[in-house]
This record gives sequence, C-alpha cells and structure tokens, in this order.
Amino acid sequence: MRAPRPGLTTALALLALPALLAPLPAAGQEVSFTYLGTGGWLLRYGDASILTAPFFSNPGLVEVGVARLEVDTAAVDRFLPPVGDVPAILVGHAHYDHLMDVPYIARVHAPRARVYGSRTMVNLLRGDPELEPGRFIPVEDQVGNHETPGEWLTTPDGRIRFMPLASEHAPHILGIRLFHGEQETPLARLPKRASEWLDGPTLAWLIDILDEEGDVVLRVHYQDSASRPPHGFPPPDGIPIDVMIVCTAGSGAAEGYPEVLVGTFQPRVVLLGHWEDFFRPMTAPVRSVPGTDLAAFEERLAEVLPEGAVQLRPNPGDTFQVPVRPTSPSP
Ligand SMILES: [Zn+2]
Repeated sequence: MRAPRPGLTTALALLALPALLAPLPAAGQEVSFTYLGTGGWLLRYGDASILTAPFFSNPGLVEVGVARLEVDTAAVDRFLPPVGDVPAILVGHAHYDHLMDVPYIARVHAPRARVYGSRTMVNLLRGDPELEPGRFIPVEDQVGNHETPGEWLTTPDGRIRFMPLASEHAPHILGIRLFHGEQETPLARLPKRASEWLDGPTLAWLIDILDEEGDVVLRVHYQDSASRPPHGFPPPDGIPIDVMIVCTAGSGAAEGYPEVLVGTFQPRVVLLGHWEDFFRPMTAPVRSVPGTDLAAFEERLAEVLPEGAVQLRPNPGDTFQVPVRPTSPSP
C-alpha cells in the first residue's frame, strides 16, 4: 500500500491513513472515504458501507487500443480492501475503466453487493454467466436532474440512500467520446475489448448517509466523469452537499467543470478522483493522467471553494475520515 501524501491534515480534522491500517470509524462520528483509484471509492459509516465502481487492472494504452483486456485479478486481490459486507456498487458509466473489474469483484470480493447503473451497464454485466442477473439493477427510470428529483434507492439495511442524476461524459479527444453508445440487449459473454465496454447514459450519484432514525448525517455528490453544467447537478431539496467527489480526467473538455458545480453547491470537502494515470499498473509510482492539466483544475477549484472548505487529491489507498454534521431531517 502506498504511503499517503504528507500535509493533508486540516482544520476539519481529516486524517489520511493507509487504508489497511485505518480502523473503522465509530458509528455516529465520521464517514471514512477510501480512494481506490480511477472512479473507485469505498465509503463506510459504522457498519454501513457503499462502493463506487472500483478498477485496478489498468491495462496499458496499446492494450486498450488493440488487444483483449484481461482482469488483473492479482491487482484486485491486492488493492481492494475487504468489501464482503458491502451491499451496493454504484456505476456512473460503463467504460472499461469503470466496469471491467466489477464482475470479478461482485463474484469474489463483494458477493452481497447489487450493482446499480444504466441499462447498458446491466446488459454488459449479463455477459457473466456466474452472476445472478437479479444483482444488476437498472436505474434509468429513477434518474433525476437539476430541476426534477429522481427516486431514492436504499441499501437493504436502510443506512444509505442514493439517487442517480442525469450527467454527461466529457469527450476524450477532439470532441470525440470513445466507446460511446448503448448496449440494448444482454450480452452472451463479457466484453473482451475496450471498444465493447460502451459507456451508456452517464450518471452522477447523490449519496446520503443516514443515522438510525433515517436522517441525513452526510450528503455526498459523486461523479466518475467530467460534465458541463448543469449536467450531473442534483435537484434542490434544501439539504447541503458535504462532500463532493469530482472527476479530474477529461475536465479540460468540459467547460465550467468543476468550478460551476462546486461554486453552486459549496461543499465543505472536495475530493479529487480519477486523476492518476490509469494506463499504468497499480504497483507503478503514481503520476497524473495524460492530457489533463491537474494544476489548472486545482486552481479553478480553489477559486470557488467556500471559506474553510478543503480540496484533497488522495493517492489510491488513502483513507479520509469526514466528521458527520448535526442531522437535518430527510424530506
Ligand atoms: Zn469514461
């Protein structure tokens, strides 16, 4: 496990700890956020938990372009923290760097988890004959947007609720979105090439961590791709966003991202995800994703960050504890 970057401790008492050494937070005090790399995050609050689609295989650029992709099960086994109890995996879009490790993870490491995402995501995952189809939950009928609330979905223990939001995927190069399209019918086998992992409609997620009474103790907004405002924005309901997980990769091609989103919703913590080079193995020294100006992204963010708020760019494996706030009733 890599060492955390120094100097991340802040006035908010956020702690950066190597994930394997981090104790679970005491219920009622803090929510822990472990960055897994790319779009992968593990959130825990007491015995409640949720995952966003983790990815560790990190095939090189040439493989992505022309070769068959293989899940690096050794990398998954090594870098994924224990998730045997996790009830839900949220997927923003179905590109290979968000979905190709999910079938193996759902089969071996997270056997209790249901996987939530677009119909395209469901139809791609149906290609794994070993996974019970009922574990894949299409959510396109529940999607909300910046004006209209979607429907809340809830983990079986009732401790976390989540709402899909209509978002978009920034173009990769010259205005083009690679591997773009929808998978209309269930596959008979899992995709073998990057080009088969079609993105499908892109979703952002609103995630509410609830206390025993069902009140919101922490609200998280999550994106696994950069989008132009108001794509990915939540509907107004009066509950503030505490933690925003933003997507760094591709942000240069999404005008106004993330400054309009962050400036509008004023979170107290912004966590930068999908910032490191995912074309290199997890064991290689971390460096930023090609084609994205990290410094410019962080500067734009800093300009709109509310007073007292922090932005953090974790290394894969880092864990942060974010204190919950006094509860506000759920609507
Ligand atoms: Zn993508």
